[in-house]
This record gives sequence, structure tokens and C-alpha cells, in this order.
Amino acid sequence: MMGRIRGQDRAITQLQRILDSGRLAHAYLFWGPDGVGKTMAAMAFAQAILCTSRQGGDSCGECVSCRKVMAGSHPDLVVVSPAGNSIKIGQVRDLHNQMGLQRFEGRHRVVVIRQAETMTEEAANALLKALEEPVGETVYILVSHNPALLLLTILSRCLAVQFGPLAPRPIRDIMAENGMAIPEVMTRLAGGSINSALDLMQRPQALALRQQAMDCLAGLPGWEPVDILLWVAAGEEEMDLPLFLEWLSCLLRDLWVWQEMGAEKLLLNQDLGDWLAGFPVAFDYPAALDLVLATRRRLAYNVNQRLALEVLLLELNDLTVEKGGGPPG
Ligand SMILES: [Zn+2]
Repeated sequence: MMGRIRGQDRAITQLQRILDSGRLAHAYLFWGPDGVGKTMAAMAFAQAILCTSRQGGDSCGECVSCRKVMAGSHPDLVVVSPAGNSIKIGQVRDLHNQMGLQRFEGRHRVVVIRQAETMTEEAANALLKALEEPVGETVYILVSHNPALLLLTILSRCLAVQFGPLAPRPIRDIMAENGMAIPEVMTRLAGGSINSALDLMQRPQALALRQQAMDCLAGLPGWEPVDILLWVAAGEEEMDLPLFLEWLSCLLRDLWVWQEMGAEKLLLNQDLGDWLAGFPVAFDYPAALDLVLATRRRLAYNVNQRLALEVLLLELNDLTVEKGGGPPG
């Protein structure tokens, strides 16, 4: 049911208004970042369209039709997902053959196309044909995190429903509903995506790694190059370097925010107010963040991880400045 979708009030209100008006478009595009509930909302919208005793712009959750949708066995609801890396022409043809053969159970039929941007050109053209010559009361819901990859001719036939990144609170609530207690800092680090939050929670020692990043940043100003090499050498072989870099950039950002504005509300690591306030030096923050980002990009090319970390720390070391002073040079 749509009422259960969290953190997407604007999109859900828009959908409820559509249902209330009783005027359905032939095609919708649910777009927005990964892991924010687009597919869930598409399924809930489909259920509401098919529900036989809809109330207040939402499905009843109890009628035969609702129960079939929830069991994944409603004949008037078809979900298309990529087969491998893409949605292929055969899948769209099968879909239309199937729809041509079957009789409608209710008034409408709903087709949900997940990761619609993965449609091959042929598949997209076949879909376009169906959108241009709608048969009966079929409603298409295209779900995509990258609609720029869709054909303009398809986009122009869809009514867009935008989904935004989730705020930390709905992330915490959704995780809690699934039996996971997520630390506050991770809800913020997840960047508004449940997928990222789950990913973070599955990485062991995620918080211990933050402590390592804190120790490293705090130690840097007093370190000679040899200390940096020793610190890296003493580290674990299997350090999760991408996550370590994530923490570094997130800590540098907070140090910067704290220095410029002193606003606790804007911090990603809200539990670290004391640490940030007592931090002994400052960095040339824009340059430091650039360095971390560049290292992250370099990692994508399979460079030696240890070497990449050494270079980063040596360069970061040069970017420390006395507190209150301007950037060097
Ligand atoms: Zn119902």
C-alpha cells in the first residue's frame, strides 16, 4: 500500500491525487536515485490501480485483487526486469503477446518496467509502438534511476513522478522495520539510499574504520613522511580502502563545516562535535577533498592500494595549516 512508503511524501501525494481524479495516464516514469523506494512505489501504485475497493487514493489491502498482487499472482500485473544487463526485444514481444492472449480480469492492466534505462534500442522501439497505439486500459510504469538514457520519444509520453534521496530518519525507520539498528552517522553517510545503507551495514568494522580515519587525520600534522609510511605499513592487509576514503572525505567535510559555521546540525558525524571542536589544526579543505576524490577515482583503475594511500597521506600532510591561518602558498 502506498501509505506505507516512507520518506517520499511528495511523490505519494501526487500518485494519490492521480488515483482520486480517476484519470490515469497511459504511462508513468518513476525516476530518482537508486534505493529510495521507486519500485516499491510502482508496485503499490499498481496495486491501487487494480484494487476493487480503493479508499482515499490507496488500495484496500484486503480485496481479492490486492491479495493477488501481494502474492505476485495477479494476471493483470506484469513486471519486466533486465535479463542479464538489459531488457531485450524478446521480452517486450513476449509481454505484448501475453497481453494479447489473456483476457483482462479487471478494468486495467499494469506493466511495471524496472531499470527501464537498460532497454535495448529495439526493445525501446517496440515499447514505443505500444505507447503510441495503446490497447485497452494498459498502464505502463517505467522505473529508472537514469532516465537520460531513455528515448526522448518515450520520455515525452510518460508522466514523470520524481523521487528524492531519503532523509536520515526514514532510512533509520526502514532499517528498524527490517530488524537492523543503524548508527546515526551511517544514515547520513548512506547519501539518501537504502541500498547504500544496507551496503554499509554489511561491511564489517565500518565504524572501527572511522576511528582509524580520525586517528590518521589527527596524527598527520605531527608526522614526518617516514611516520606516514610506517602507519600505512602497520595497517591491516585487507583494509577496506574505498570505505576508509569515504570516511576521510566525510570527516574533512565536517571539519570544514565546523570551522566555517560551527553548526552541529549540518554535520554528517553528529556524534563527533567534541572531536571536531578540539581538532588541533586546519586543512586547506577544498584541496584536501579534491585529493581524496582523486584517489577514489584512481582506485577504480586497479592501482596499488597501499601506494595510493601513502601518496594521498603524504600530499594531505602538506595541506595542513595552523588553525586560523589561511591556506599555504
Ligand atoms: Zn484492494
